[in-house]
Amino acid sequence: MARREIPNLIVCGTPGTGKTSLAHKLASQSGLKHIDLSKYAVEHNLVDGWDEVLNCAVLDEDKVVDHLESCLPDGGYILDYHGCDFFPQELIDTVVVLRTENSVLYDRLKARGYPEAKISNNMECEIFQTILDEARESYEEDIIMELSSNTPEEQDANAEKLVSWIADWKNDKLK
Ligand code: ADP
Ligand code: MN
Repeated sequence: MARREIPNLIVCGTPGTGKTSLAHKLASQSGLKHIDLSKYAVEHNLVDGWDEVLNCAVLDEDKVVDHLESCLPDGGYILDYHGCDFFPQELIDTVVVLRTENSVLYDRLKARGYPEAKISNNMECEIFQTILDEARESYEEDIIMELSSNTPEEQDANAEKLVSWIADWKNDKLK
């Protein structure tokens, strides 16, 4: 397959680590399109039931991939979802895994009004670095970027780093 002129990124991480806010910022700074997959799946009827513990829709991962398969090969997408293991490797150029310290994450989840069961489930996910491990099992180590997301300054730095990475990709300085 020919190299994409514009890359595709996944921004993943435990709920509350800052995926949607970073992806939104990055989209406005880079011109890439942000897709919040949970919302997208609901809007396009690509869901497979309801998770009672997490109180959210469960993605039908195959349907999501089928739905995006016609546009992803051309690149230019920022995919925002907690998990990352269900996309074909060849469609993804970098996997950003956001990480947040426990006390900061706890406060964010609490501020969202999540029930305690959902907070502890997500805290465990972050403590056991579940998403980072998932990324490492699904993609080559050299396309994974683990980024710290505790403060607004870190979020700005992350956006800046990714904007510059995207520019390097477009200038064919990568790979
Ligand atoms: P996610 O999409 O991963 O669940 P969000 O982007 O919705 O996370 O962020 C959750 C909350 O935390 C929001 O109120 C957001 O403004 C805040 N937030 C996210 N990232 C940071 C950060 N790096 N520093 C400070 N606050 C942040
Ligand atoms: Mn989100």
